[in-house]
Amino acid sequence: MDVRDKLYIDGAWVPAGGSETAEVIDSTTEEVIGTVQFASAADVDAAVQAARAAFEHWSQVSISERTKFTSRIGEALGARMAEIAQLVSHEVGMPLSLSMMIQAGLPISTFMSMADVVEQITWEQQVGNSLVVREPVGVVGAITPWNYPLHQIAAKVAPALAAGCTVVLKPSEVAPLNAYLLADVIHDVGLPPGVFNLVAGGAAVGEAIASHPGVDMVSFTGSTRAGRRVGELASQTVKRVALELGGKSANVILEDANLPKAVATGVTMCYLNSGQTCSALTRMIVPRSRLAEVEEIAKREAEAATPGNPFADGTRLGPLVSSTQRDRVRSYIQKGIDEGAKLVTGGTEAPEGLEQGYFVQPTVFSEVRRDMTIAQEEIFGPVLSILPYDTEEEAIAIANDSSYGLAGAVWAEDPERAKQVARRIRTGQVDINGGSFNTLAPFGGYKQSGHGRELGRFGLEEFLETKSLQL
Ligand code: NAD
Repeated sequence: MDVRDKLYIDGAWVPAGGSETAEVIDSTTEEVIGTVQFASAADVDAAVQAARAAFEHWSQVSISERTKFTSRIGEALGARMAEIAQLVSHEVGMPLSLSMMIQAGLPISTFMSMADVVEQITWEQQVGNSLVVREPVGVVGAITPWNYPLHQIAAKVAPALAAGCTVVLKPSEVAPLNAYLLADVIHDVGLPPGVFNLVAGGAAVGEAIASHPGVDMVSFTGSTRAGRRVGELASQTVKRVALELGGKSANVILEDANLPKAVATGVTMCYLNSGQTCSALTRMIVPRSRLAEVEEIAKREAEAATPGNPFADGTRLGPLVSSTQRDRVRSYIQKGIDEGAKLVTGGTEAPEGLEQGYFVQPTVFSEVRRDMTIAQEEIFGPVLSILPYDTEEEAIAIANDSSYGLAGAVWAEDPERAKQVARRIRTGQVDINGGSFNTLAPFGGYKQSGHGRELGRFGLEEFLETKSLQL
């Protein structure tokens, strides 16, 4: 049992002053594995003041000195990789082998990448009689979700530190223990006091950060609902805001695509982390003439993704993060049935033999119409909606018929044709013929999936101001 009743402020662990405590639940056993005590408003203020004071020094430290720290943090996380993977598999439920690669591997590579990424920034440039310089934006309030908890933290903290910003982090109260591990690591590598601060809490603490006049920028990852609120609050002090929000991404399979590969990969990319992935390909858009074949392949793939204990060898699908999330996903499955979609496989009951743990059956709906709830709303569970189309134009129109615009995919025999279609999809990323995730490519949304980009050079630039010196 990991009891965390302190906050990391100004280089020291100090008692948390909030009255609330959150229990951290193992999503497979439903046992309490830890507790975190929330910050009070005064704690948030102390963290912001510490970050403000530290900014004076940290922003003047050389870029190479700053990235020595980000690399050291990456190395120290690397030494604890197996522990991180275990912890996140307990907190979130992702199968351990995937957790090693993604939940532990990604944040390590993000911290390690900063030394190269800073080399790609044009820090100074002459424009006519002006010297244009890039400077850190200031104190960053980072608010993060639970689904890829340490990855989402690293995607903010690593570039913010490399840019010369100081940080007040508020991780998700659902999966916060990995953030304490990061704070321990940061303490051990000797980052100067106040450069990184950790406060625990839920919406109220997040709102205190978003409204605080001492915070220059809020970088938020989470739901569109909470992102909207963060934007509203931040506007009162005209903060810079970066929002990484939800998605309902389309997987457009063209007539001549390699169907078995496209559908099988599509199911995998919908069910990754039990569907709790913002960029999950949850809408499969397929030629009507091949609908029966698609259904058959999708059914087979979904049924092969048997849910099970994330620590057992060979498990591809773990539980969902919480009972709330499980119930929410099951109610979406019921909604799909009620609105008349064709249930190909899965359903609302617990998977056989898995009454304990927050498991949901891998579910596939077909003959889904664009106006159905399961075609429009983010479900955040292992639920695939198959939508048939008659023409390529219609396929593109369906793909773009969403208030979200985070990610997507296109499959076609001819990659050039796939690229043309990909350019017409209004999202921040599109994978072509199974193209894999690139940790240095800009990640972020169009439309209500947010604004701003994370990762690589574009991600770091979010944390920079631009100043002109006239000579
Ligand atoms: P959430 O919005 O409930 O919570 C996210 C974070 O915001 C948490 O730390 C939470 O405590 C905090 N928060 C909640 N209400 C707030 C408020 N009013 N003011 C300030 N902070 C507040 O989201 P979640 O359930 O943790 O995560 C799932 C959501 O995150 C999904 O919608 C998913 O698509 C999205 N997400 C997006 C990305 C991306 O990069 N685009 C990545 C991962 C997850």
